[in-house]
Amino acid sequence: MEKLTLNDLLAKVAEYNIENLEIVKKAYYYAEELHRGQKRQSGEDYIVHPLNVAYILAEMYADKDTICAALLHDTLEDTEITKEQIAKDFNETVSYLVDGVTKISRMNFSTKEEQNMANTRKIITSMRNDIRIIIIKLADRLHNMRTLQYKSEDKQKENSQETLLLYVRLADRIGLHVLKRELEDLSLQYINNDEYNRIKEMRLKVAEDSKECIQEMLGTINDLLNNQNIPHEEMVRIKNIYGIYKKIQRGYRLTEIHDLLSLKVIVDNINDCYPTLRWIHWKYKPINRKFKDYISVCKPNGYQSLHTTIFGEDGRLVQTQIRTPQMNQVASYGLAANWGDYPENANLVMQQEWKTNDPFYDSLVEIDSQYANDKEFVDQVYRELLGDRISVYTQTGKLELPKGATPIDVAYNIHTEVGNNMVGAIINGKEAEIGKQLKQNDNVRIITDDTSIGPNASWLTQTATTKAKRKIKEAIRI
Ligand code: MN
Repeated sequence: MEKLTLNDLLAKVAEYNIENLEIVKKAYYYAEELHRGQKRQSGEDYIVHPLNVAYILAEMYADKDTICAALLHDTLEDTEITKEQIAKDFNETVSYLVDGVTKISRMNFSTKEEQNMANTRKIITSMRNDIRIIIIKLADRLHNMRTLQYKSEDKQKENSQETLLLYVRLADRIGLHVLKRELEDLSLQYINNDEYNRIKEMRLKVAEDSKECIQEMLGTINDLLNNQNIPHEEMVRIKNIYGIYKKIQRGYRLTEIHDLLSLKVIVDNINDCYPTLRWIHWKYKPINRKFKDYISVCKPNGYQSLHTTIFGEDGRLVQTQIRTPQMNQVASYGLAANWGDYPENANLVMQQEWKTNDPFYDSLVEIDSQYANDKEFVDQVYRELLGDRISVYTQTGKLELPKGATPIDVAYNIHTEVGNNMVGAIINGKEAEIGKQLKQNDNVRIITDDTSIGPNASWLTQTATTKAKRKIKEAIRI
């Protein structure tokens, strides 16, 4: 990319928020002066980094406080300024956001490991208060990953691993898929360069080979929908390099990856989604088990779309996604899509949506209250919230749980009394041990009895959620 300038940032902000150019300019010169004399490893002036971070956020239509905070994001850590001064010169929110992305000083710790754990905890728990902190942090990481070539080989590997382990999963959690995909590919490039290059080439070849077939399908679907008077737009997407890598790791061959190529059909409104599906299925036969209606049942991060995998021209499998422009924004930006809708008040909506829709939020609060030790906290978050997850169906509806969860977790998730009075479980119609690990899409019913003897300490090792563990401890008073 050409070297980014303040004018590029201002032009980007002007696209959606023309009233706030002055404050953005002020934040830029403020940070530029504070960082003056500091250089990045690339040899460039340090301000280039915050400028790029702010630009990444402006591409998401971030509000003015977020843009200012992005420009100032490294000043507390690397310069003499204080958060009180930033609050005075800007406002409390900007100061709060900058403080949120600032590492806790190493003077507070005796080892590097302790400092890392405390900072990881700080990043994760910041999501409780203001989701913008994590979004700034992700943009910061993205620019650092884009410029990782200037770091030592050890640092490159270490940062890439941390990116995959933490930042990619956080991005996924809040639905910021655009950032997630780029972070994944950049990480793989440094962790396994040979594989990265091999897949990159394969991917180009697939795109080249299927060009004709895809063009034909696009034309056919276009005619079909025009005949039905359904206004629409079509797009083609190829799975990112890391996505293909993961599938290959799991033993898939390239031809077996059913969503290697996706067609996106964007229609004006939700009422056009289902008829569109019907006409596409009329023309191209679907694989039944691959049909998903994420419009009726959206993903916890708000994602909505119809997914179907069809046999396209020449029998090639093509995943097709049908959605509205609004859903498409959410598919790319997740919670951050709210910025596009209400530039200056989005943070409240984002926080509200996050609190009410995502079980992550409550679990995070729970884990935070139960684990005083930073390392134990971080380990539990990885296990319970950022690791693999499963969905199960219970008598009260669909439930998302960490892999390794059991009927005991389900029971305590439904209600404390259901857990305490549990005497058995039925999984997919068969009686099962209450500590049996559940699988994806299991159907679970909890059997309770008022005369049950209640939980005992052995239940603690048969649960995966902190909430269940806490309630068991409370019931048996340890
Ligand atoms: Mn930074």
